Amino acid sequence: MSRRILMNELSWVEYQKRVEAGAAVILPVGATEQHGPHLPMGTDAMLATAVAKGVAEKINAIVAPVVAFGYKSQPKMGGGQHFCGTTSLDADTLAHVLRDVIKELARHGVRRMVLINGHYENMMFTIEGIDLAMRELRYDGITDLEILRLEYWDFTRAETLEKVFPDGFPGYALEHAAVMETSMMLHLHPDLVDMAALPTDGPAEFPAYDVYPTRTAWVPCSGVLSPATGAEAAKGVLLFNDYVTDVTAAILKEFPSVSAVA
Ligand SMILES: [Zn+2]
Repeated sequence: MSRRILMNELSWVEYQKRVEAGAAVILPVGATEQHGPHLPMGTDAMLATAVAKGVAEKINAIVAPVVAFGYKSQPKMGGGQHFCGTTSLDADTLAHVLRDVIKELARHGVRRMVLINGHYENMMFTIEGIDLAMRELRYDGITDLEILRLEYWDFTRAETLEKVFPDGFPGYALEHAAVMETSMMLHLHPDLVDMAALPTDGPAEFPAYDVYPTRTAWVPCSGVLSPATGAEAAKGVLLFNDYVTDVTAAILKEFPSVSAVA
């Protein structure tokens, strides 16, 4: 039987054994958010989970169930909250969900955790969740917990970026439902991508300020912030390999107690 890596698929007895043997737990955090007409709304959750699983296959780690709701979609990053289907949490709700999950994992005895964020807007609230959990755990006398937190796209290598964007990189914020996410989904979940529905509007042009309520007219109707033309599975392979290889290396570097799996 091959080694199981999903927490959901382990019995508590098996899980306890793995935790006692020093397994790290990887927590993917995503969103349920429109990703244009061609990608599923679970894209951020699926990509964060895929990277987590890829990493867990290489090291002594277990993947916790993804946190599938994220912080509110922002017009300049995810199109905004006005799209049907986008389902988001308030900032303190998200931070508290993460705080509670981290505290529970610590109660189980987990002392090395990795939080992989797949939704730009979550960033500061993942930090808040970690900070609240660690502060409360310190009061409980747990002082040896370490958490590595990351946005997976920060692990894109320069040479990969050049291959994925031969005409120049528009920046990670505008990469919503665009070339990177579409390419990775073509590689990881090709049955969920509808390339015939690829929109042609955009790229979005935003001023240097925000206005509330959101000026929805600033956002392309498709919800895609820069064109996904040029997306292909081969580019998804390059991106995904960067993430799995280099996130694995970071964990092994920072957490010497976590071992590679042969
Ligand atoms: Zn996304």
